[in-house]
Amino acid sequence: MNGQSFQTSIEYLKGVGTARADVLKKELGIKNLEDLLQHFPFRHIDRTRYYKIKDIQHDLPYVQVIARLTHKEILGEKHTKRLVAQVQDETGVMELVWFQGIKWVEKNLVVGKAYILFGKPGSFNGKAQMSHPEFDPYSTEAMQRKGNMTLQPVYSSTEKLKQFTLDSKGLQKLITGLLDQYGREIHENLPAYILNKFKLMTRADAYRNIHFPEDAIKLAEAKHRLKFEELFFLQLKLLKNKLLRVQKFKGNIFDKVGPYFNEFYHHKLPFELTNSQKKVLKEIRLDSQRGVQMNRLLQGDVGSGKTVVALMSMLIAIDNGFQTCIMAPTEILASQHYQTIKSLVGDDFVEVALLTGSTKPKDRKILHEKLENGELKILIGTHALIEDKVQYKNLGMVVIDEQHRFGVEQRAKLWRKNTVPPHILVMTATPIPRTLAMTLYGDLDVSVIDELPAGRKPIKTVHYYENSRLRMFGFMKEEIAKGRQIYIVYPLIQESEKLDLKNLMDGYEVISREFPLPQYRISVVYGKIKPAEKEFEMQRFVKGETQIMVATTVIEVGVNVPNASVMIIENAERFGLSQLHQLRGRVGRGAEQSFCILMSKEKLSPEGRIRLNTMVKTNNGFEIAETDLQLRGPGNIEGTQQSGLLDLKVADLTTDQELLMQCRKCVEDIFAVDPQLASPENQILNLAFQAKNAGLSWDKIS
Ligand code: ADP
Ligand code: MG
Repeated sequence: MNGQSFQTSIEYLKGVGTARADVLKKELGIKNLEDLLQHFPFRHIDRTRYYKIKDIQHDLPYVQVIARLTHKEILGEKHTKRLVAQVQDETGVMELVWFQGIKWVEKNLVVGKAYILFGKPGSFNGKAQMSHPEFDPYSTEAMQRKGNMTLQPVYSSTEKLKQFTLDSKGLQKLITGLLDQYGREIHENLPAYILNKFKLMTRADAYRNIHFPEDAIKLAEAKHRLKFEELFFLQLKLLKNKLLRVQKFKGNIFDKVGPYFNEFYHHKLPFELTNSQKKVLKEIRLDSQRGVQMNRLLQGDVGSGKTVVALMSMLIAIDNGFQTCIMAPTEILASQHYQTIKSLVGDDFVEVALLTGSTKPKDRKILHEKLENGELKILIGTHALIEDKVQYKNLGMVVIDEQHRFGVEQRAKLWRKNTVPPHILVMTATPIPRTLAMTLYGDLDVSVIDELPAGRKPIKTVHYYENSRLRMFGFMKEEIAKGRQIYIVYPLIQESEKLDLKNLMDGYEVISREFPLPQYRISVVYGKIKPAEKEFEMQRFVKGETQIMVATTVIEVGVNVPNASVMIIENAERFGLSQLHQLRGRVGRGAEQSFCILMSKEKLSPEGRIRLNTMVKTNNGFEIAETDLQLRGPGNIEGTQQSGLLDLKVADLTTDQELLMQCRKCVEDIFAVDPQLASPENQILNLAFQAKNAGLSWDKIS
């Protein structure tokens, strides 16, 4: 609020004092005036609206009614004593009841008179009822008075706060006082040209109206303004970071394409690159020639061919005399990358090695030497490869797979691996909706591979219930007869490993009966089996010795069997969308038509149904991610949990996507002409930015 007064402790606000300040802090985290000002109502009650008795639904939070009192009487004794009254309008009858203040109410209610009643509706014995309603005698003046109090704020409170009379009403009083006393000190923090361009309400008006709106339109404008402000300053921070990083770090210059790239491109690459792959490769090329450190996020669906793009960028780095590495979150993924890269580059071309926690000390020693003398050009591994004792001669580029599992600290470690920090390419296999990417990775550049290699047939997905199981078995037999292989996946739920195993084993038994030896052979893989045994079973399937792989989600990552063309997911309703999508991505890797069968129980939750329908409807990972975001909200999307960047007060990344884009664009435009925010008209931004981010530096924010 740049007015210093808003940092004043809440204790000093009129009507607060030490005791109440204490509970406000403990219960709501309100420590100063600014915190209270930003304790926004979660709802407003529309006091302009009047209901007819017959239209009152019991689940409405509040209703306002004009009705005539037809009857009143006091019933019961002592504890059960209550005042029961009846009112009526032209549409129906409603009962009113009071358990407290009976005497006073009794005196003030007159049979035959009309009242304006306000309260939470309920029902008793199937009849409309309201307990402890507010009531005012009906008159034209009374109606006019009410007309001035249109939308009344409702604040979240707690039982504890209520003991200090800080219920919604109590908080409303405090905030009224706050605005009366300090309202004039709410200073603007956006330049006039932005307010004009985006038709935004001033800041002071916005704070006033979000609490006590003049009308519904003003309320919407106030919310809009505060959302804009929140998203704008977040983007300002992210993009400023990016600018600072560019200023602070030089980048290695990869200015030539040499024998490594050319040999690979002309003689080893077994297919034509897609246009998307070419486009991304160009983006990376441009980035790595500018003399600025590259920080690029590469998004693309499963199977879109990110790995090849990464490898080709790495070959350019090698052509320019640098070493490269790929960092994966798990050993399985690391060794899969290792194998993929090995098979792509072939022997006697470029030295590739794998380094993980299970690399033997003897081998490790040799690796370390080769890294230090520069002989080893491509190192693939888990985060073992950024440990301090791993020293590179000249690390020029790092590819990070599945970035979200790496912390900021690990990223910073990478930066320190070379005097000039290596270029960084982050690959994510889980597409993230654009708006989330803009926030979570707002300080990175983003490349997207949005097409699949040609000739790839979209996977056909169907949703079956138990009564189609026999049909499914028949289909499986047909596919196996064509020489295809099949996955059957069971959900894995941490709380009940035993039950999961039973689920899997029961399924396995049914399958074994339906697909008997010697005609059919089946692999089983689940979390608890010994690694050697698991490897053995996987290998049998990979080599085509078994036709069916029964597994828990352990196969989600790590296996690549192009001949497998059917993915069956049991209890599919128990999987999240991104997991279903990942699982489905295990098939459709060869030239054959692939299928995904989602088996579920009949009774589905509404959300479960949307998930399965979405899977049937689309193969597009971005679309699926978007639906996932709508269903679960930004905080629950995989990989976003720890990010404070998503703790927004008014804006909501699920619904405010368009506004976010506007803010981002607006900030980009500003930085394009005034990166220092030095122009007089941007002074106001500069000050606000510094106040908001005091004490932050580039490496504290990711
Ligand atoms: P991602 O890492 O994006 O999931 P991969 O790089 O593993 O995808 O590629 C999936 C498969 O597609 C691999 O077998 C790869 O060799 C192949 N592939 C990649 N690009 C192409 C292309 N342009 N044309 C044909 N096949 C491709
Ligand atoms: Mg891959």
